Amino acid sequence: MKTELVIDLEAEKQEILKRYRALLRASKSTLQKGDKKEIRKAFDMALESHKDMRRKSGEPYIYHPIAVAQIAAEEIGLGTTSIVCALLHDVVEDTDITLEDIEREFGKKTAKIIDGLTKISGVFDTNSSLQAENFRKMLLTLADDVRVILIKLADRLHNMRTMDFMPRHKQLKIASETIYLYAPLAHRLGLYAIKSELEDLSMKYLDPDTYKFIAKKLNEKKAERALFIKKFVEPIDEIVHEQGLVADVYGRPKSIHSIWNKMKKKNIPFEEVYDLFAIRIILDSAPENEKADCWKAYSIVTDLYRPNPDRLRDWVSSPKGNGYESLHTTVMGPRGQWVEVQIRTQRMNEIAEKGFAAHWKYKESSNDNGLDQWIQKVREMLSNPEANALDFLDDFKMNLFSDEIFIFTPKGALIQLPLGATALDFAFEIHTDVGATCIGAKVNHKLVPISYKLQNGDQVEIITSSKQTPKEDWLNVVVTAKAKSKIKSSLKEEKRKIAENGKEILERKLKSLKITYNTENIQKLSYFFKLPSTQELFVNVALGKIELKDIKEYLSNGKEVESRSPERPENLSVDGIKSKIKGGESDILLIGEDMQRIDYTLAACCNPIPGDDVFGFITVSEGIKIHRTNCPNAAQLMANYGYRVVKAKWNKQQELTFLTGLRIVGIDDVGLINNITRVISTDFKVNMRSITVDTNEGIFDGSIMIFVNDTEHLENLIKNLLKVRGVTGVTRFDA
Ligand code: MN
Repeated sequence: MKTELVIDLEAEKQEILKRYRALLRASKSTLQKGDKKEIRKAFDMALESHKDMRRKSGEPYIYHPIAVAQIAAEEIGLGTTSIVCALLHDVVEDTDITLEDIEREFGKKTAKIIDGLTKISGVFDTNSSLQAENFRKMLLTLADDVRVILIKLADRLHNMRTMDFMPRHKQLKIASETIYLYAPLAHRLGLYAIKSELEDLSMKYLDPDTYKFIAKKLNEKKAERALFIKKFVEPIDEIVHEQGLVADVYGRPKSIHSIWNKMKKKNIPFEEVYDLFAIRIILDSAPENEKADCWKAYSIVTDLYRPNPDRLRDWVSSPKGNGYESLHTTVMGPRGQWVEVQIRTQRMNEIAEKGFAAHWKYKESSNDNGLDQWIQKVREMLSNPEANALDFLDDFKMNLFSDEIFIFTPKGALIQLPLGATALDFAFEIHTDVGATCIGAKVNHKLVPISYKLQNGDQVEIITSSKQTPKEDWLNVVVTAKAKSKIKSSLKEEKRKIAENGKEILERKLKSLKITYNTENIQKLSYFFKLPSTQELFVNVALGKIELKDIKEYLSNGKEVESRSPERPENLSVDGIKSKIKGGESDILLIGEDMQRIDYTLAACCNPIPGDDVFGFITVSEGIKIHRTNCPNAAQLMANYGYRVVKAKWNKQQELTFLTGLRIVGIDDVGLINNITRVISTDFKVNMRSITVDTNEGIFDGSIMIFVNDTEHLENLIKNLLKVRGVTGVTRFDA
């Protein structure tokens, strides 16, 4: 049902001005002489050029750039240039205003940032090219000016906050991109608050049921939790002040996404997640007392509550690579419950919340800047880009989230590497040549192989040999994006040389067979030998895998070989798939914009069943595959191949069954298995395919594969299984 939209233009004008004034207030702390005029000029230009445009919600378009500028100022702490750029971030893309106009009015720097923002804005609507290429472009702009990425993050955050009016398939695509790349980027740039919000918002759209479930659970116990926090904090607060520290002590809830992650990782129900919140002690310290004050507070807390010795994290002495500084400990609370306590100063807290921009503000006072080093590394990696953008992105992304370890050189210099890094990673970190010729290492004076996984605090000396060259299996040894890309390009270079050689050999062979050496014939040969490229053909010839007699064989029947190029995934579409289907109509799933009945298979990675939120994905060789929107692979698929995603919806009428798995945990009791199987097969008449049970000192842990009709059926079954005496947990699992 559509409702008529009545617009009161005068009221809207007032609202726009109100929002603009709020933006000015938010940017007040960074404003210098003349800045206000610049912002006003940008606002006027944006207002004028977007004046006839509206958002999907029906609101004036200008609300969006104002909000993005507000986030940039308030939540990231950016200054006037960025605020101006945020206000104008969509004008070159969407209106008649050109980059030259911007440069004339606001200068070169502003024009350059907006150029960067315009180049990466295509990420949204492109339908034909790989998203990965767009992401790579975005990272390239990061090497130019980090503000481009920061404003882009503000843009993305506002779009995620206002996504309710978007069609479902767009919501899924945008949410997937966000969880796949934007949230990790925010994390890497130290923007914890924004990262958490992006993750929660993504989950809200990708996995709405779980999101609502956890939100509801959190809300139920809110008052009880507040009381617990109050009691826990009181004695700390008292003693901290007695000892002359100025501090703010409070409880802070953890994000829904992080709670869900914990439930999945530890396979525990919501009730068993102990850290639904953390206690924060934010100290107001003079710069020279920061470290001492943090440890003083630590000592007060651990005098009151017993700490878990395994859970002390000191990022005050060695800050994380993204600039994060804090002292974390987990202590035993009064009711036998573990509580995480985070101790830091106001400066550290601002960096923790706002990340990069705040880091710069304090730059004079902090000497070693991990973020600068990181951006330097990104620059290096991009200067030697891989041909395959998706590969590059995967390597890069892996490095966004990982924790760091600190390694010492023989001379005592500190090198930061991601957790899991090996001696070979360290070698490449020192220098490409050191990495390329590495044959082993001495770790703490002991000889180890190149694959040795480094431990925090190791001192490493690399042993090289001029005879060594990078090997294919090194790619499995290293974890850093830098080492990976260096090894790949070296292998590629090696291959190129071999291919060159193979090409000469092939030319001679063809000549002896009186075959013309031309592109067409070479391509025909590649297809004949089922090789993906002519380069592979040359390599195979050089390595002696293709000999003269093979080519003769081709001559005897090769002329019938079709030289049609293999089907490219870009050419696939729902219509293409449709035309391939000969009959085989299926009834239970409707696919595509017009909800047609098309052949499909259910993805094995997430085993969707009717009632699950699902989407279709067009595969290269297996038609349409149906995944759950909360499938572990969904984000990657939707973020990188959005154009191959099709809508899919269950049609309610069918009485078919689907395979799914249940994990049942409990206290082993005589007859427990009997009671479980009784509920499943007698009460619910559900067929079981397999049961695996593990009993260990009275703890029962079973996996059961069963056939159910839909999610409702499954939920009822779970409910009843939970009633079986001794059963403490029942969860659905995917594969
Ligand atoms: Mn925008």
